[in-house]
Amino acid sequence: MSESISELMDLKELYQEIILDHGKNPRNKGKCDGYTNDAKAHNPLCGDKVHIYLKLNKDKEIEDLSFEGEGCAISLASASILTETIKGKDLSFLRKVNDDFLNMIKNKTKITINSLSADQITTITSLSGVQEFPMRVKCATMAWHTCLSAVEKNE
Ligand code: ZN
Repeated sequence: MSESISELMDLKELYQEIILDHGKNPRNKGKCDGYTNDAKAHNPLCGDKVHIYLKLNKDKEIEDLSFEGEGCAISLASASILTETIKGKDLSFLRKVNDDFLNMIKNKTKITINSLSADQITTITSLSGVQEFPMRVKCATMAWHTCLSAVEKNE
């Protein structure tokens, strides 16, 4: 019993470390060259802003992507983790991982997509802690919604 509680604490600490790392050193920050799609969003509850840039090639693969944003650590970490996860992948992968992510946040399900490494799943799952804080859900999901709308806008 005490063992499983300490394991749970370790996991929580690991998740916090991942979020802090991505929040402080966001990956793929800036405006990527030659982007084909973009979309932005604003979360007035927290003051977060995000602008996603995607460079899609003719095979509908995400050749490059980046984001500009400001706001809380969770919103920056979420955008950073998103861009790291989908870089180089195709749009069907983006849709699957997006569904999985939003389901995890809303319905507390696990990430099921099988083309991710264990490390990638741990990184994405680090954002699941916002389930306990309804005010922060938007912080964690905004970049993911925005990325989908960037894709759908130009289809
Ligand atoms: Zn926020």
